[in-house]
Amino acid sequence: MAQIIDGNAVAEEIKKEIIEETEKLKAKGITPGIATLLVGDDFGARMYRGQVEKNCQSVGFNYFDKSLPADTTEEEVVNIVKELNDDPAVSGILPLRPFPPHVSDSAVINTIRVDKDIDCFHPFNMGRLTLGEPTLAPCTPSACIELLERVGIDFEGAEIVVVGHSNIVGKPVALLALNRNATITVTHIFTSQAGNLAKHTTGADILIVAAGKAGLITPDLVKEGAVVIDVGINRVKVLDEEGNPVLDEKGKPKTKTVGDVDFENVKEKVKAITPVPGGVGAVTNMMLLKNALTAAKMQAGIE
Ligand code: NDP
Repeated sequence: MAQIIDGNAVAEEIKKEIIEETEKLKAKGITPGIATLLVGDDFGARMYRGQVEKNCQSVGFNYFDKSLPADTTEEEVVNIVKELNDDPAVSGILPLRPFPPHVSDSAVINTIRVDKDIDCFHPFNMGRLTLGEPTLAPCTPSACIELLERVGIDFEGAEIVVVGHSNIVGKPVALLALNRNATITVTHIFTSQAGNLAKHTTGADILIVAAGKAGLITPDLVKEGAVVIDVGINRVKVLDEEGNPVLDEKGKPKTKTVGDVDFENVKEKVKAITPVPGGVGAVTNMMLLKNALTAAKMQAGIE
């Protein structure tokens, strides 16, 4: 039976560490602060905004809400980022995407001061990550690493396979693991289309999955005794035993959140696995706070 890696418990541990550090910093007159930047009213982005606000409050950070209407021009958005760059109370800036189509991601991201870029979106910080130099590490990828480190994984020489090559998860998690001397294979949609996914995933000591496809990873794609980190977040319909949708009291199909891994069946074969929810997501939230704390210290010239 696999160890179920409890992301909530790890998140609670990190939160305690952050609260302690924040109190020490406040004693020196410094309070970390996060500003979120939301343009328009994308549902997912709004949900994330609320979560960041709540998390800031829970550790004693300041929080600044920059929620702008969908018709805000790109120039206006960029000017707001510049104001946040210059505001000493803001230690970290988090753009909440997607932006409306007329606001380009790169115009916003390239404007963020690199020492306030708390999710490592800026090309400068991604470059430093590629060079293996210290940087504000991207939150979800560092959550994967943190979970693996806290369950005692030795990265050196480990065969790590990443499924997904996005700039936000797949590529940076591969770089973080490479910087720890693991052997990395990055797979993606073309790997699957070429019929080669299983060839790679079945050789993985550690499998990190970030594809956004519910049920993609079935037991036949996983090595016996592997460690599986499931980053995916997917809303799927709840089905009854005959495969029909279960309806709620309003007659609408009930839904639930699942990852990319067929958790129930894969957990019978592996050494350890993260659940969804309660795995990577909870820790990601804490990594953002940790980065804001680091950024506040850097800006104050504290080691
Ligand atoms: P993207 O859609 O940007 O990237 C998905 C990646 O998976 C792409 O590289 C894509 O390849 C690849 N892919 C898609 N289908 C397959 C397949 N059948 N076989 C192999 N590779 C495939 O998503 P993100 O990286 O932003 O996010 C991935 C998942 O992680 C999502 O479910 C997202 O909700 C979740 N997430 C969770 C977070 C957390 O904190 N827990 C934070 C961020 C994301 P290609 O580009 O070539 O199509």
